[in-house]
Amino acid sequence: MRVIVAVKRVVDYNVKVRVKSDNTGVDIANVKMSMNPFDEIAVEEAVRLKEKGIANEVIAVSCGVAQCQETLRTAMAIGADRAILVQTDEELQPLAVAKILAALVAKEQPGLVILGKQAIDDHANQTGQMLAALADLPQATFASKVEVADGKATVTREVDGGLETLSITLPAVVTTDLRLNEPRYVKLPNIMKAKKKPLETVTPADLGVDAAPRLKTLKVAEPPKRGAGVKVPDVATLVNKLKTEAKVI
Ligand code: AMP
Repeated sequence: MRVIVAVKRVVDYNVKVRVKSDNTGVDIANVKMSMNPFDEIAVEEAVRLKEKGIANEVIAVSCGVAQCQETLRTAMAIGADRAILVQTDEELQPLAVAKILAALVAKEQPGLVILGKQAIDDHANQTGQMLAALADLPQATFASKVEVADGKATVTREVDGGLETLSITLPAVVTTDLRLNEPRYVKLPNIMKAKKKPLETVTPADLGVDAAPRLKTLKVAEPPKRGAGVKVPDVATLVNKLKTEAKVI
């Protein structure tokens, strides 16, 4: 079975992003970029399926600028066999990425496509679901456990107040939640090996995809600053303030 894993290059989760002064977006010039954390979990899961002998090839796919090659090399250092960069300097929205991935699904015929549940830059939580619709595949989102056997995946999902277990027929789309696994620490020899693994570069047009944005960002703004707190002398004053000022009780 072939597994496709989608990996997005995003601002590193440790970076405190700043809104641009013209409110058109956040400033990503000279900030550290890394693989989206949920996608690291996706790659780890795909590689574990290969190590168990369930998958025989893991393909990492990233869509975006030329530097996404670094993200793909990291995916191959974790254990992906080869990589595809769908290169463009244009802004890519979830629908465009889903269309690109759907074209690659048609070409590569994977048994499983694993994505992160959301990218930590746009927080869209849309790409996996849109891909499942476009490629007409079953989907199991927010996976915290995946077991593959007999042409089916049994996926445990984290839902409000508990766990839900689904059985889906392969090929299928799965998106990862935080507790699915703990990605391995990438060792230097594997980073060196990853440099020699094949990385193919194509454009959205090569795949017949119109990746033009469909949504326009009107404004990006900082959240309002929190005001300072006050100390109240007793419970009665607190209750009174909650009633009359905060109006929450
Ligand atoms: P989103 O719908 O933007 O929150 O992203 C959900 C998931 O879709 C991510 O965790 C990735 O697995 C995948 N994805 C989104 N954008 C890209 C991209 N530009 N390249 C590769 N994968 C992506």
